[in-house]
Amino acid sequence: MIRLRTGFQMLLVGCLVVLLSSLAPMAQVAHGGGGDEGTAQTQGDNSIWSQMNRYLESLFGNEAAVPGGGHQSGAGKRVGLQAGHWRYQESPPPLNAQTGTSGGGKTEPEVTLDIAQRTAKILEDKGYAVDILPAWFPKGYSADAVVAIHADGAANPEARGFFADRYSRSAIPEADDRFMTIMDEEYAAATGLPFKYRSTDGSRYYYGYTLVRVKTPMALIETGFLTNEVDRQIIVDDPDRSAQGIAAGIDRFLTQ
Ligand SMILES: [Zn+2]
Repeated sequence: MIRLRTGFQMLLVGCLVVLLSSLAPMAQVAHGGGGDEGTAQTQGDNSIWSQMNRYLESLFGNEAAVPGGGHQSGAGKRVGLQAGHWRYQESPPPLNAQTGTSGGGKTEPEVTLDIAQRTAKILEDKGYAVDILPAWFPKGYSADAVVAIHADGAANPEARGFFADRYSRSAIPEADDRFMTIMDEEYAAATGLPFKYRSTDGSRYYYGYTLVRVKTPMALIETGFLTNEVDRQIIVDDPDRSAQGIAAGIDRFLTQ
């Protein structure tokens, strides 16, 4: 993101751009006419274009030269967000029968994909490269961190709450424990949903853990109960709060 510091600097840049635009045809003539700007920039360090670049960099730092780079916490980092059960039909059996839960007129993959897309937007604004992953993806996927996003369901409509979990056979248990704890803290802070750790074989031995490359930090989060009316007020009606919690957890894990 480029931040202009003062109105005066904006004015200066505006004048410079107008001035340089008027000089551009002359610069091209000086380079023999028809020479492309890329050549002029790479060869002629003192060309009028590289002088303008240097001037802009002196005003804005790297941000002028490298869009999206610079001070952003996610620069150079990749995150995988698996939208639980999304495109489950494309998974090999028996996973292609795991449709997920449903409630309030929504299916789990609709909800997890929505939250994943909102989370991706927040992280991309911080400079992260983000992959939204379906229920099944080729083994060996690698990133700086991966989160599998799910929603819970129960026959008892009173059951509610969220929790994060990690692979019981993790090759990096300390890192994954830290990731899991941070996710719990940030998700609780962003959503106000109650934390209810109800780890099961399904969350400890989740198949998705085995699809990512060994030593890739990964957490699974059950974002709330789709079968509970109060939880749905967050995960269905206000999914930005879920996304903020997940994005904050990932960002904190990768920067702290
Ligand atoms: Zn699920």
